[in-house]
Amino acid sequence: MSSLLIVEDDALLRDGLHAQLTQAGHTVTTASDGLKAQLCLESTRFDGVVLDLGLPKISGMEVLHWIRKRLPALPVLILTARDGVDDRVQGLNAGADDYLTKPFSTAELQARLSAMLRRARLPAFGGSLELSSLTSRRLRVDATLPQAWLDNEPIELTQREWALLSLLVSQAGQVVSREDVLSVWQTEPGEGNGVPSNALEVYIHRLRRKLDDSGLSIRNVRGLGYMMESKTP
Ligand code: CA
Repeated sequence: MSSLLIVEDDALLRDGLHAQLTQAGHTVTTASDGLKAQLCLESTRFDGVVLDLGLPKISGMEVLHWIRKRLPALPVLILTARDGVDDRVQGLNAGADDYLTKPFSTAELQARLSAMLRRARLPAFGGSLELSSLTSRRLRVDATLPQAWLDNEPIELTQREWALLSLLVSQAGQVVSREDVLSVWQTEPGEGNGVPSNALEVYIHRLRRKLDDSGLSIRNVRGLGYMMESKTP
């Protein structure tokens, strides 16, 4: 059961989708143009969006760009016209997760939606059980974007902080040595040489502050490095 936003200006199609997806057990909100869609997205949290690209007021493509800036993790399935090959390519390049070409069957839409929502729930690092049992489930990291969220709020991270966090998360429960971190930093373009020896401590300190209240801590393992673990209650 998911909370979905359907953005479609064709009233017949919109009402049909609303009825079918509600019947399938979802909570469905509809918007008839791009502007209304943005207002809905600003006021409500959704698990996924079905977005027609041909919309009045604000185009579907503009809404898609807008979503990707503000809600990078929100799964979006776009609806395009039969001959809209350019739209599909542009939409996928702009960060749509999937597309359907009109006309489509309800069964196909539901199957695509389920797959999209399932993918969105997968943990970012190869489905590691260790990670999911260690995290408080309030921190979410997506290595492909890359972006991290704490309770669905994007965490502002510099490139180095991101590299450090993703390394610690991907090896949660294990010690990450200083050398590991420095070697990841070395591979970043423009950041390589001359990382000051005390820089790591500084970044660990910053990251701890950003993860404050996340249920996770970064522990110093004397002489070895750092380890991300869940705070003992
Ligand atoms: Ca349309």
